Amino acid sequence: MVRRFVAGEGLGDAVRVARELASRGMTVSLDPLGENVSTREEAEAATESVLSIVQAIRSAGVDSSVSIKLTQAGLDIGTEFCAANVRRMLEAAREAGVAIQIDMEGSDYTERTLAIYRELRPEHGNVGAVVQAYLRRTAADLAALCEIGGPIRLCKGAYREPAEVAFPEKAEVDANYVELAQMLLSAGARRRGVYPNIATHDERLIEWTKEHVRSEGIGKDEFEFQMLYGNRRDLQEKLAAEGYRMRVYVPFGREWYPYFMRRLAERPANVLFLVKNLLKY
Ligand SMILES: Cc1cc2nc3c(=O)[nH]c(=O)nc-3n(C[C@H](O)[C@H](O)[C@H](O)COP(=O)(O)OP(=O)(O)OC[C@H]3O[C@@H](n4cnc5c(N)ncnc54)[C@H](O)[C@@H]3O)c2cc1C
Repeated sequence: MVRRFVAGEGLGDAVRVARELASRGMTVSLDPLGENVSTREEAEAATESVLSIVQAIRSAGVDSSVSIKLTQAGLDIGTEFCAANVRRMLEAAREAGVAIQIDMEGSDYTERTLAIYRELRPEHGNVGAVVQAYLRRTAADLAALCEIGGPIRLCKGAYREPAEVAFPEKAEVDANYVELAQMLLSAGARRRGVYPNIATHDERLIEWTKEHVRSEGIGKDEFEFQMLYGNRRDLQEKLAAEGYRMRVYVPFGREWYPYFMRRLAERPANVLFLVKNLLKY
């Protein structure tokens, strides 16, 4: 079941999936799995591995960005150390014409993640950010990000958060998603260089987005949909066939456990499926 959500253990597996998706009209963002490293050596190794990914993307000639987690680049060790690692990644990626998007992790990291984005964005046109609709603070954060510009991914949020910081009810998260998507897709934000990434598998939000861009006259090349590898492949293909830009987030690597657990938590049916399969053995 891990293979449903993870492309494989090696970079070669990820590139193979990227090629396959490209042949069906989709782009990708490769995600080297791993988070919360505790030593400088691990963070430096993660940085080196992003440099290899960037080179592999260039050699394969696929349209791919790289999604990174700052705790993989040493955020728990130090903000400046982490920013320096990300700067190295961005410089190599710029040479190769590749963009890097900084995933958003648990709320303990939100402030520091946004601070690093604010620091790096003015010098690096190839860096993007992520915001989470479940956080109460996100409307203010997104308003500030819209002034700075860049590719900005709007997702619901995947970490367990207390009610003081995140909306506990799905209906509240979904309503906030619509408010934030309006902000992200607004003419003002786009004029300031925001490239909206609508990252969800929620059909109601996707339909809302389609209707909103149609009524606002926003071109299909002015934003993109994003989904996770292994989730709603039917919908990914449908959107691509309809001419929307569709980017698939493709995780790969050995450290799949925390990522896989977040995917299980999103849908009780996944846990049931896993248990049934375990019982077969
Ligand atoms: C491209 C991309 C990048 C992301 N990056 C981040 C990030 O940086 N930080 C972060 O916190 N979160 C990130 N996420 C995860 C996101 O926050 C949500 O946890 C996840 O997308 C599920 O929410 P949803 O919008 O699909 O809506 P939901 O309401 O959770 O789901 C809507 C429907 O999608 C399908 N679905 C959703 N999840 C699953 C699943 N696991 N298995 C099977 N079906 C499913 C089901 O049909 C479900 O009814 C990212 C998501 C995407 C698509």
